[in-house]
Amino acid sequence: MDLERYSRQILFSRIGRKGQEKLLRSAVIIIGCGALGNVIANNLARAGIGRIKIVDRDFVELSDLQRQILFDEEDVKKRLPKAIAALNKLKKINSSIRLEAEVLSVEPRNIEKLIEGSHLVLDATDNMETRFLINDACVKNRIPWIYGGVIGSTGMSMNIIPEKTPCLRCIIDKVPLPGTLPTCDTRGIINPLPNVIGSWQTSEALKILMGDDSLNQDLIYLDLWQGTFKQSHITKRGDCLTCGKHDFRVLESKEISWVTALCGRNAVQISPPGKINLSLENLHHTLKKVGEVSYNGYLLSFKINGYELIVFPQGRVIIKGTTDKSIARSLCAKYIGL
Ligand SMILES: [Zn+2]
Repeated sequence: MDLERYSRQILFSRIGRKGQEKLLRSAVIIIGCGALGNVIANNLARAGIGRIKIVDRDFVELSDLQRQILFDEEDVKKRLPKAIAALNKLKKINSSIRLEAEVLSVEPRNIEKLIEGSHLVLDATDNMETRFLINDACVKNRIPWIYGGVIGSTGMSMNIIPEKTPCLRCIIDKVPLPGTLPTCDTRGIINPLPNVIGSWQTSEALKILMGDDSLNQDLIYLDLWQGTFKQSHITKRGDCLTCGKHDFRVLESKEISWVTALCGRNAVQISPPGKINLSLENLHHTLKKVGEVSYNGYLLSFKINGYELIVFPQGRVIIKGTTDKSIARSLCAKYIGL
């Protein structure tokens, strides 16, 4: 294989040719393809990680372009799913690695299958619910993962190596984590922040994948506006439900239909349990008589009474215009029949 494209990285003595070859044999999964996921995917694809899987449940909107570096106005116009838009761009950046995209919501019933075969999981999600799920699945399957969170001008990150380091649940009761509370709808974000945290996660990822022993052991916290950086040493809790007692309660709630309010989007997502094969073409035909409907080959949009229902093939629906879960459920039942 021609390693010329990685020559500057190979020159860096801590990586070298051996390290590069290891990276090329590595497989990672990036969960979430928003601001952090874009930065991480961009970095890892250019660095030559052999296999990269991107998972995201959402589609590209205009307000994403301020910080989501892989997307452009064309993606917004086409309302492409983020995972697909990212995949298209990454293929142009590095066509010599294996890239995969999954348009779905990461849930208890699919996460173990998704992370299977990956050497590392990168957290680029925007909510604690999914992070706890990642924590359960990774500790159970002994796969390292890197937590990352961003909000306003503050961000944090931590490496979680099962059986070696504390896990997310070890820290969450102790430290009220800034950047992890559900306030991203009100506090906004400045665009250098995901570049910094996503890049921090990337360098930790390179070290983990190469087996380098200089991993960062701490929870790091920085505020770009204040110009401050802190490292907190976290200790493993003996009574931790997850890494201590191996009680994977988030992961085990497999049959629950996940109804979640989407952070900062004035929207609710409903993801039915089990597999549903919904024909979006038929639905398009049916809903035409009721309201404004469009279909782009990946998702269907239906507007009615000030709400918008975005329907994905597996029966997952994002309801925009409300954060009320019962309103969302009834709209879904009424128009989609789910
Ligand atoms: Zn723990």
